[in-house]
Amino acid sequence: MIFQPEFETLERPALEALQFERLRDLVDRLRHSNDLYRERLRGVKTPAALAACAELPFSSKDDMRDTYPLGLLAVPVRNLARIHASSGTTGNPTISAYTRRDLAIFGEVMARSLAAGGISPGDMFQVAWGYGLFTGGLGAQGGCETLGACAIPASSGNTARQMQLMADLPVIGFGATPSYALVVAERFRAEGRRPKALAYAICGAEAWTREMRAALEETFGVIATNIYGLTEIIGPGVAQECLDKRGMHVQEDHFLPEIIDPETGVPVPDGERGELVLTTLTREAMPVLRYRTRDLTSIDRERCSCGRTMARIDWFTGRVDDMLVIRGINVFPSAVEEALLRFSELSPNYRIFVDRPTHGLDQMLVEVEHRSDATVDDADALTAAVGKRLRETLLVSLTVRVVAPGTIERIEAGKAKRVIDRRAP
Ligand code: ZN
Repeated sequence: MIFQPEFETLERPALEALQFERLRDLVDRLRHSNDLYRERLRGVKTPAALAACAELPFSSKDDMRDTYPLGLLAVPVRNLARIHASSGTTGNPTISAYTRRDLAIFGEVMARSLAAGGISPGDMFQVAWGYGLFTGGLGAQGGCETLGACAIPASSGNTARQMQLMADLPVIGFGATPSYALVVAERFRAEGRRPKALAYAICGAEAWTREMRAALEETFGVIATNIYGLTEIIGPGVAQECLDKRGMHVQEDHFLPEIIDPETGVPVPDGERGELVLTTLTREAMPVLRYRTRDLTSIDRERCSCGRTMARIDWFTGRVDDMLVIRGINVFPSAVEEALLRFSELSPNYRIFVDRPTHGLDQMLVEVEHRSDATVDDADALTAAVGKRLRETLLVSLTVRVVAPGTIERIEAGKAKRVIDRRAP
């Protein structure tokens, strides 16, 4: 179902008029309410057309770091209703602040996302994203409440309890990171049990591929869709796939997407790959202008077969930051995953090790589990075939090790650690 057809199916001219009006309002608000943006917008004209957005300055993760904790606020502190934060890999967390209206918008975009992923009012939705400072748990909770669905706030981890809830209650939808959804699905299969009513999984907060989705759907017996978001923008719900699976619909009346060349910063034509840049059009507490997400994708603004007019972004090829440079060649972990899952004998459980011997070239080892239900008669032949495919796809020399199911450590919460780069910095 479409939760807010009055926005989600708005004809493009009307949608763009709304975006333009909100963009002008945002630029004016930023000039008058925030020191960093006031400085950065000095001498910059308020856009006279939506396309002039490309002339506005960018913002980045560094701005969040430099203005920690509340330097990007555009409202007085006493107007805040909630704070979320994501753990940074280094230094301070990224803080995200919300007014009451921001929380209402968060609820709306999450309700749209849940609906696009197959959840209807009255359905039970089990939230296995973490509750607390992380935006996933409470974000999905708010989405359920706005949609009129019944939330089960299981939070992350405790697989036995997750399974019991899904086995005993008529849970229709499950929200988790894709790697954790797979952990739960595999455990159900291993124990010969089935969830009572599960039909949909909504997965995100972690990089994954369509190949991994196919494996998850097959193991879990559900339809799985991809959800996208980031703390800096609002949390999950920035974009969500519909059941037609033609890319993730960006909630464009709230978040203005652009795709740029990551090297030059210049917008690229629709359909071409580049870095996703997002502007929050309606956010009050902590609006961001042209935030560089570092995520690589392309955009399609054609109306979708589901009826939504909101532009669709493709599954990410990777993050600018996740790219490994092996012997001078760019390698995305997503490309490794995609190539591995072309082999029906292999499971989506894999790890990439990178080493650099003292006097030698980078060494890359890909370790992957074969499926528990696959018969591998000739392990050497399979290893050789996988190695050949990976070398041909990635154009880099590497070693492959096919291991038994269960060899690679499973995560109980959060994101799987796929890449172990042991090279000295
Ligand atoms: Zn659609």
